[in-house]
Amino acid sequence: MLDDNVLRREDRRANSTGRPEDRGPYPKEAAAPSDGFTSKLARELASDLLERFCRYVRIDTQSRRDRSGSPSTPGQMVLGRMLVEELLAAGLEDVQLDENGYVTATLRRNVDSPAPVIGVLAHLDTTPDAPGGGVQPIVHRGYDGGVIELPNGETVLDPRQMPELQEKRGHDIVTASGDTLLGADDKAGVAEVMAAVAYLASHPELPRPTLRVAFTPDEEIGAGASLLDLDGFGAYCAYTLDGSERGELQDETFSALEAVVTVQGVDVHPGQATGKLVNALRLASRIVSLLPVDTLTPETTSDREGFIHVYELNGTPAKATFRAILRDFDDDALRRHLALLEMTAHQVTDPEPRARLAIEIREQYQNMRRHLERVPNVLAAAEAAIRAEGIEPVRRPIRGGTDGSRLSEMGLPTPNVFTGGHEYHSVREWTSVQDMAAAAATIVHLAEAWTRPEYAATGEGRARAAAPAALSPAENRSNPRS
Ligand SMILES: [Zn+2]
Repeated sequence: MLDDNVLRREDRRANSTGRPEDRGPYPKEAAAPSDGFTSKLARELASDLLERFCRYVRIDTQSRRDRSGSPSTPGQMVLGRMLVEELLAAGLEDVQLDENGYVTATLRRNVDSPAPVIGVLAHLDTTPDAPGGGVQPIVHRGYDGGVIELPNGETVLDPRQMPELQEKRGHDIVTASGDTLLGADDKAGVAEVMAAVAYLASHPELPRPTLRVAFTPDEEIGAGASLLDLDGFGAYCAYTLDGSERGELQDETFSALEAVVTVQGVDVHPGQATGKLVNALRLASRIVSLLPVDTLTPETTSDREGFIHVYELNGTPAKATFRAILRDFDDDALRRHLALLEMTAHQVTDPEPRARLAIEIREQYQNMRRHLERVPNVLAAAEAAIRAEGIEPVRRPIRGGTDGSRLSEMGLPTPNVFTGGHEYHSVREWTSVQDMAAAAATIVHLAEAWTRPEYAATGEGRARAAAPAALSPAENRSNPRS
């Protein structure tokens, strides 16, 4: 069941570290509670899931920031085509890969009761911020709780620095070989969605609403949701599988602004500059230096605190520009951060009437919470599904955005669900097979939850959500765009 290469590598490692011989893929005695699986269903899903995961991570799908089209890189199309084949093989319908690199498919409902169309999403790309080609997954079976040394780049996973790894004793941990990403962000999510819908398709006795699957390109460069055809997708709500620790359910992201501050000065030959030169570069630097350093920066804030992060500064005496991102969970606080930036800029440039100041503000994404509050059944169903897997859900705000923040804003309420992956965007990235299996099992439970009347037909203004699947996709959406 496992990829040959994975097994060979793992045998070698097990022998070299004196660990017991490999036990093979999920043997019968794994039914013992110590094997880390949260349910029989999770254990049943694990082999197919791991096989898919190891196949997907080998495809280089790193996205690129300076994109001229969608997707930004051809590897994402390669993975997209592979998924199309696999979705067809699993028996899904309407399987499509569009010219922008979006894979969509439908698994039809098998209940007569009214149930809304539910979306499940994951992203195809991996981050451009660390090497992403030539990924060699290694499965460390029955993790003993010690330091994991990877073969390349002297990369080490030390549980003393990774409290989450500490808790995975007995799990099967997957890493890369030390000098690349693993790509669990978000191929763990892709594999979980694939394993879950394939399982549902082959188990018609399990009740399900119509499920719409989407795999999106270029999430890591902030463009994942923008070209998804929501009317064509036709879901009432959706879930991204793009979180981390087991049990996480994320219903809050930052609200996000970008500010581009430009100062125009007066450039004169320095030999003849007396009383004439107005140095834009110095003025811009001064603005930056007057911004708070002990608070309101990414490095001095945590949890629910926001920040102003200056990440680029360049210029000449004639013209200087810096860029900053502003983040907060609270929109009023975000406006205060912006006001502080504007005030500081004016404080520096106003005394010099020959300087000109321009501040350009771009809204990047919004906290998804306000959109999710209107449809409490969306989170309630997810919590019920996570609990059905024997896990207590953990609501945790994301200090960043997801495809879901943009989708929620576009009218498709989309919270984020855990995948089991950790140390994202680094060569130390790792995931637990048991936790990935728990996420896949959660999707199976989620499907069942949405056939229950308490989620499918609750709340005022959501009559459309409970409409029969025969309605057109557009009618089945909760908050159509105006
Ligand atoms: Zn991700």
